[in-house]
Amino acid sequence: MSSVGRPPELDGNGEIVQKSLVNVTIPSKLAQFLKEKGINRSKLFTDVVTKLFNDEICKRCYSDHIEENITRYQCRSCKHILKYKNCENCNNPYDVHYNKFAQPEDKAFLKGCYDCIPPEERA
Ligand SMILES: [Zn+2]
Ligand SMILES: [Zn+2]
Repeated sequence: MSSVGRPPELDGNGEIVQKSLVNVTIPSKLAQFLKEKGINRSKLFTDVVTKLFNDEICKRCYSDHIEENITRYQCRSCKHILKYKNCENCNNPYDVHYNKFAQPEDKAFLKGCYDCIPPEERA
């Protein structure tokens, strides 16, 4: 067999990454745009899907302007919340309605939540 084309892509362990052909249907103008820009569609598809699953791209508006704060990862463009973090003190997940960020009045620790600090002990 002659070696034609690119060398196979290797994963972090030096193993060949097995590939599958998938067909996707996209608007013709978008396909033309990608062709004109010389964008590799296979790489683009892989990158975008990976970012979507890693919460690096907003599932609602496809922006990659994701900001992180104490309680969550949120899209800067449309304000969609991609993922809540867990409280550093009790490990319960934050929630915009039920479990908000809080600090104990005695400052025994700095990052807590409504679950682990009763109302009368919140700063
Ligand atoms: Zn968004
Ligand atoms: Zn907590």
